[in-house]
Amino acid sequence: MSEHKPVLIIGFDTTKVVVGEPLHPMALDHHIIKIQLLANDELIDEKKLEPNEKPEAEFDTKNLSVGQLHSLKAKAVCNIHGEFES
Ligand SMILES: [Zn+2]
Repeated sequence: MSEHKPVLIIGFDTTKVVVGEPLHPMALDHHIIKIQLLANDELIDEKKLEPNEKPEAEFDTKNLSVGQLHSLKAKAVCNIHGEFES
């Protein structure tokens, strides 16, 4: 099962991260609490999520270098199951 795996959708100015295929639940007792974006294994930005929001986040990546863009990774944190990397 890959309901925790974050998937990166890299666009021109922004990068979207969607968690899970099928999407991870966002129930009060089981949800994604945050999504982090990393480049070269360093934290670029993170978004906190609340129950009932979509398990996704959009990040501004227009100021990243080509090298950073090529090394982009995402990390999703589930309140029950912990951390998962793309
Ligand atoms: Zn979970």
